[in-house]
Amino acid sequence: MTPSAMSADAQVSAVPVRDEIARMKGYVPGEQPQAGKFIKLNTNENPYPPSSKVLAAIRQRMEQGLSKYPDPVATPFRLRAAELYGVDPNWVLCGNGSDDVLTILARTIVGPGDALAFPLPSYILYRTLAQLQGARHEEVPFANGGGLDPAPYRRIDRLKLAFLPNPNSPTGTYLSPESIESFAAELPCPLVVDEAYADFAEGNCIELVKRCPNVLVTRTLSKSYALAGLRFGFVIAQPAWIEQLMKAKDSYNCDALSIAGATAAIDDQAWLAETTAKIKATRGRLERGLADLGFRVLPSQANFVWCDRPDRDARQLYEKLKAERILVRYMEYPGWGSGLRISVGDDAQNDALLTVLKGIL
Ligand SMILES: *Cc1c(COP(=O)(O)O)cnc(C)c1O
Repeated sequence: MTPSAMSADAQVSAVPVRDEIARMKGYVPGEQPQAGKFIKLNTNENPYPPSSKVLAAIRQRMEQGLSKYPDPVATPFRLRAAELYGVDPNWVLCGNGSDDVLTILARTIVGPGDALAFPLPSYILYRTLAQLQGARHEEVPFANGGGLDPAPYRRIDRLKLAFLPNPNSPTGTYLSPESIESFAAELPCPLVVDEAYADFAEGNCIELVKRCPNVLVTRTLSKSYALAGLRFGFVIAQPAWIEQLMKAKDSYNCDALSIAGATAAIDDQAWLAETTAKIKATRGRLERGLADLGFRVLPSQANFVWCDRPDRDARQLYEKLKAERILVRYMEYPGWGSGLRISVGDDAQNDALLTVLKGIL
């Protein structure tokens, strides 16, 4: 390669890769310490063990052996999910976690030079997905009061896709399906509502999918079903979407064990109701405890809360908590702000966090 053939940005890579990749920083997930005892409240994992039926189903599936390829479209899960949400199975596409599903969506819908939009602040992975496609990403601030305004989206050149996490991450705030429906109606592109946390919220957008052809909903079993380690997510969309998305996924993107485990999980709705109720109760205690310690806390409908104290440096609080073996997430969004995102643990973890925080302040 002659020097003139190399773009300025490509120099950051020692090997000849696409400019888009060389230029990217790469998504950095929350810390996952593999050693040492931490109270881990940084990546919104569920503090409770999954339904015992999940582990039983995985064991049973293991006994059948793993020498054959899995079902390419996770049929048993599709059937159960379709039944649960009142759609036909061809409205469901499964993935290796919802990050895989989000990747499939970006890969299918957004091309080089196109734009992908999402709110500021929201899930940082969306930026990476745009970069992988060689697309622009546009971060659109929420309207006054935290609402949705389609106007700035309508001004984005070549806008092909918008992501909207609801409840949002990192804020935990929730928008009603009614407001999302009117927003989607004014958008010039499809809208993917990322419902990673919807099981902790008072409503969801599944019904919108049935009547709005440009609304798609993604879900994950990582948070509400306590299966972050299993890797299973899915999208619900009208069949015309699923048909196209199928072409862009890996042939066997869900393995045999995760299909068995995920199917058992979604089948145990009693476990889900009981567990999300416990987490919501602890979330209330966490919100009140933080407010009593002088934090500003955003109202959350997720399994985490966003907070800050105007008179304290959030990064320092994060560092001090870490020194005490409590991991939370410090996040900063240029143009919006910074603070702590704290996952809702069980009551003992919650008490430990509040006690240590009180000592630090
Ligand atoms: C955790 C999370 C996901 C990803 O979930 P996985 O299924 O574990 O990949 C997607 N979107 C948001 C907003 C999340 O917080």
